[in-house]
Amino acid sequence: MYKCCESKHNLSFGPTLAALALLLTPAAAFAEWIGDARPMMGTEVSVYLWSDDPQAGRAALEAVFLEASRIDRLMSTYKDESEISEINRQAAQSAMVVGEELYELIRRSIEISRLTDGAFDITYDSVGQYYDFRRQQRPDEQTVESELPNIDFRHLQLNDEARTVGFRQAGVRINLGGIAKGYVVERGIDILRSRGVNNAIVTAGGDSRLLGDRRGRPWMVGIRDPRKEGEVAISVPLEDEAVSTSGDYERFFDEDGVRYHHIIHPGTGTPAGGVHSATVFGSDAVVTDALSTSVFVMGVDKGLRMIATLDGYESIVIDADGRVFFSDGLQKPQRPD
Ligand code: ADP
Ligand code: MG
Repeated sequence: MYKCCESKHNLSFGPTLAALALLLTPAAAFAEWIGDARPMMGTEVSVYLWSDDPQAGRAALEAVFLEASRIDRLMSTYKDESEISEINRQAAQSAMVVGEELYELIRRSIEISRLTDGAFDITYDSVGQYYDFRRQQRPDEQTVESELPNIDFRHLQLNDEARTVGFRQAGVRINLGGIAKGYVVERGIDILRSRGVNNAIVTAGGDSRLLGDRRGRPWMVGIRDPRKEGEVAISVPLEDEAVSTSGDYERFFDEDGVRYHHIIHPGTGTPAGGVHSATVFGSDAVVTDALSTSVFVMGVDKGLRMIATLDGYESIVIDADGRVFFSDGLQKPQRPD
């Protein structure tokens, strides 16, 4: 999403900076930018960091990728052996004891469902499971109609003490696709920080977290033009912040002039309309990830009103006519006439 590190081509300016450091400050001769991007979680995970010790930097980078695949093994509904797949098989028959990490993310998802009036709902998957964007497949109307009653986060029954998750009815399914990448990014940044890294970006799909700045300058985060591939609509300077974008251009297919994409309106069981992309900024990538999906579903007015109630969170929405809307905290002060 941001232009500086998404493509491998742009990552190559790291060594150039390192070469400069070599010439100017012999003491920091081996410090350099290190980065890599790998296909994971049905998208791309990338890590880019400044390290005074390249060997330690590369080890830190590997640790982040290792953590991403661990989380994916736990939370991917595409893997039969994942803990979440087990929940989907079992939880309607009897409540299931769930590992702390997954339990916590499900609990936070439900909190966000309440905050967003049900726009964010991990049970969307009862219908969502029938979409296959690579094969251009979607559920027919009867399937949507019969599965729609299974979409409702209130069907989930959580018990904090026993750490169990149960489904109140058969047919309910959960999928953390709208929040797990934010979690990967948060965990990745935690790992880097604990290894002494002070300047970095970790990205998973549309979710990024910036650690520190770009050594003396802010990171420039570009929000993609939703309809012009490779073009940036808006650039925002950011430091020490999480940013997530949800768009209708990542996973989609067009059929008879209708765009079928991966963000499902829980009220209709069909892709949400009205918005082309929703970006949310804030301190925590788990929250920005879930909220960018939510604002996309809620639309410009309702979405920005919800964001206005949250301290430290801001949003930029591009609607279906290409118009750009900013949350209050981002609006430029108007000159009095
Ligand atoms: P990306 O996956 O590109 O980062 P998002 O953060 O917007 O994009 O997440 C979209 C994903 O969220 C979908 O692929 C799906 O797994 C999941 N999802 C779709 N609709 C909803 C919804 N209404 N509530 C929660 N999760 C959703
Ligand atoms: Mg999201």
